[in-house]
Amino acid sequence: MTKPVEVSNVFDTILVLDFGSQYSHLITRRLREFNVYAEMLPCTQKISELTWKPKGVILSGGPYSVYDKDAPHVDLDVFKLGVPILGICYGMQELAWINGKENVHAGEHREYGHATINVEIPSDPLLKGIDNFEVWMSHGDKLAALPSGYKIVAHTTNSPFAAISHETEPIWGIQFHPEVTHTQKGKVLLENFAVGICKAEQSWSMKNFIGTEIERIRTLVGPTAEVIGAVSGGVDSTVAAKLLNEAIGDRFHAIYVDNGVMRLNETETVHKTLTEGLGINLTVVDAGEIFLNKLKGVTDPEKKRKIIGNTFIEVFEAEAEKIQPKSGDEIEYLLQGTLYPDVIESISFKGPSQTIKTHHNVGGLLEDMKLKLIEPLRELFKDEVRQLGELMGIPHDLVWRHPFPGPGLAIRILGEITPAQVDIARRADHIFIQEIRNAGIYEEISQAFACLLPVKSVGVMGDKRTYEQVIALRAIETTDFMTADWYIFEAKFLKTVSKRIVNEVPGVARVVYDITSKPPATVEWE
Ligand code: GLN
Repeated sequence: MTKPVEVSNVFDTILVLDFGSQYSHLITRRLREFNVYAEMLPCTQKISELTWKPKGVILSGGPYSVYDKDAPHVDLDVFKLGVPILGICYGMQELAWINGKENVHAGEHREYGHATINVEIPSDPLLKGIDNFEVWMSHGDKLAALPSGYKIVAHTTNSPFAAISHETEPIWGIQFHPEVTHTQKGKVLLENFAVGICKAEQSWSMKNFIGTEIERIRTLVGPTAEVIGAVSGGVDSTVAAKLLNEAIGDRFHAIYVDNGVMRLNETETVHKTLTEGLGINLTVVDAGEIFLNKLKGVTDPEKKRKIIGNTFIEVFEAEAEKIQPKSGDEIEYLLQGTLYPDVIESISFKGPSQTIKTHHNVGGLLEDMKLKLIEPLRELFKDEVRQLGELMGIPHDLVWRHPFPGPGLAIRILGEITPAQVDIARRADHIFIQEIRNAGIYEEISQAFACLLPVKSVGVMGDKRTYEQVIALRAIETTDFMTADWYIFEAKFLKTVSKRIVNEVPGVARVVYDITSKPPATVEWE
């Protein structure tokens, strides 16, 4: 079988070698924003083991000091690639240290925050079109001397060597971080490097990705093998499924498991969109009873998650066994909607003493079913997946849907899960989301949902005393879900939602709004 071509072989690629900075992934991110494909690998990458040739290399920042005994160092073969190199912060110190160990010292002052760059060589191609500008610094070490063969391109009051370049080789070093938004024109600098200096073609776009990715899937899967994959109704699994469907048609089998704790009308909507709308070969498994039986009497959040995860694997496997591949071949692959941030998380350089974390979302399934993994989105960031989804004709509302947790409403129904509780949570959530959509603010909010609290409170309806449960509404704004703030609704909006929920959902006597940010709270309640 021919080996599928890697994305880095199809698109001009800038290699980002990660020395462990918390901003390394942003370098990749920024380059892609001006359509240059970039891939990050740990700084320990052996250059001879690369299966593609980069157009240029960026050495990232990092928490170590280059002169430390256990500090990480780049494979010197990087200089044999004959491509331009840009060192950022630690990366620049590394270039200087390779040049002469005495070139890097601990500074007397740490420099953290803004600094003004004074350009000394305006004609330098790295700073083309950039005058004196504000940059963001974060370092304690500094160059003690200009490495031999280099010249100064720019300085700040604190850093005489804020930007340097080699006299004869295409090598640059900068002390500041162009990848963070606090650095003015940081993106222009990166574009000067990638496009102006490395001559990388700006061809990375989702429009170009579709075609090559479909080809890649076809080559990987071959002419007869079959693929299976779970779909959830979320954007990632739907886009992944659509790619597989375009590549191999009905040899891709999508399975949607209704676990009994899905949102109102969810199963019907997913079924309709994926089959009628997108032509995906889909099996819907109605396993609600199995899940709800196993969840009976369980109130511990971790137990709920475990039960749902394990039951999902059981149900999925049982369903997979029923599939009779037309070609007579076995099912060979499992589709997984892994995104680039997960990949980054597993390959980031975390230092010699720490083991590198691997993610194992589907570990159980792979081992039991002896399947190989296929991950068509593993090079993409979330916003790229969304662009791809729009281009592939996936409905706008689905593409921009808020994330929904795997355990579904089970972790939004606090305490025991019964069919009656599921019904209340479902209806309240539906009203909340419906009103958010009506108000035209759905896409301003990152995630919104209703939570059912197993607490009774006294109310009065039609002159009668009521004693019913509480619905807590949660809506947050965030860019990365690592930190989040609660969304500020207009009072009128909250009034409408509260009134509708209490009036339309029997079993609810009170509605409250969660005004806790993350941290200290998490987004979900359980
Ligand atoms: N650890 C090095 C220093 O303190 C590099 C810092 C960085 O790359 N941000 O100077």
